[in-house]
Amino acid sequence: MISAELRDARKGFTALIKDALYPRICPGCGRASDRAGRCICWDCFGRIEVLDGGLCALCGNPLTGNPRSDFICALCRQNKPSFDRARSGALFSGIMRSVLHDFKYNNALWLTADISDIIEGVLSVGFDVNSIDLVVPVPLFRTRERERSYNQAQVLAVELAERLDRRLDTRSLKRVRATETQTRFNAAQRRVNIKDAFAVVRTQWIRGRTILLVDDVMTTGATLSECSAALKRGGARTVYAVSAARR
Ligand SMILES: [Zn+2]
Ligand SMILES: [Zn+2]
Repeated sequence: MISAELRDARKGFTALIKDALYPRICPGCGRASDRAGRCICWDCFGRIEVLDGGLCALCGNPLTGNPRSDFICALCRQNKPSFDRARSGALFSGIMRSVLHDFKYNNALWLTADISDIIEGVLSVGFDVNSIDLVVPVPLFRTRERERSYNQAQVLAVELAERLDRRLDTRSLKRVRATETQTRFNAAQRRVNIKDAFAVVRTQWIRGRTILLVDDVMTTGATLSECSAALKRGGARTVYAVSAARR
């Protein structure tokens, strides 16, 4: 078994060689990236609107003013979400919008590390990372996964599980019903559309566990909440929901 230091050193060396052979072009400014092993350059990375303060304690909704750290927003008070806490890396704006669009629809898997950096930035701030047992992606319905050839949430979950050195579980939570795309719906319609769309099929893996649930973009939180409800029905102790960006 190789030590973590040696593994990191090897990775760093591989990244250096790759950088020399294939310069990475920043999707924000079109110049060669100066971040080792990453596509987004330091300049553009610094302009991403990260969500690291002034948030609803429960859903991570950015709030105006200077809310107390335990403040729960009106949306959560009206409809309590099923996750224990949700956090997003950044606002869905500027470079994050184009990066996540390319990642989802244009097979831009080379952006995985960049997007994971944004998520990783909020993990330790938002959650008790040491308590996480399993990393679980929001599943796609099987026909949609075939159309798109991959599940972008799963790609991010794979990367995060590796970075956190936690078990990845892509098989216990299933989408059991096809749903219409949420984009045209308002918050209430989204909740109805996604209701009971997920189920836990292997409760022995979920029962008593603290789960990091991963998606690419959070809008109203209806999907993350519904997945969390299914995980809780399956016996999960705690569900932390994380996404790269928030609309
Ligand atoms: Zn740039
Ligand atoms: Zn809230």
